[in-house]
Amino acid sequence: MNVIEKGKKQLIGLSVTIIVVSLAFLAGGVFLIVSGAIGISESAYAVGIVLKMVFGVILILLGIVGLGAGIVMVWTGGAIKAKYGSIMEGNLGFGTVNMQKCPKCGSQIKEDEKFCGICGYHFEKPKCPNCGEEVDQDKKYCTNCGEKM
Ligand SMILES: [Zn+2]
Ligand SMILES: [Zn+2]
Repeated sequence: MNVIEKGKKQLIGLSVTIIVVSLAFLAGGVFLIVSGAIGISESAYAVGIVLKMVFGVILILLGIVGLGAGIVMVWTGGAIKAKYGSIMEGNLGFGTVNMQKCPKCGSQIKEDEKFCGICGYHFEKPKCPNCGEEVDQDKKYCTNCGEKM
């Protein structure tokens, strides 16, 4: 899992948490206001009613702000996926593309790429001067005919 994928999962997890907490705040706020209203009808202790009402309104406001933030974060997560999705697939080696490791810097490079995009290492295999067969760069002799490279 690369950094973008991990970040995206964390972002979505965090935003879901925020939405759940916001909903709890909303419910708590509504409960406080309702219980405050019941208090008024029962002519209970006035300061307690005012506190319940104020906390209820604060909780509802926090809940609304949290919900908005959560929705924005989910949307951002989706946008990140849309923007980096194709790059991630290449980096992670999904699909039919075979990957090779750059011997110089260790980056993952597509097998058909001739140069490392990170350090510029040249991947094209040298051809045997005798038989024309492609030979690995670390070989001193042709693995097909034995000619000195
Ligand atoms: Zn490299
Ligand atoms: Zn050869």
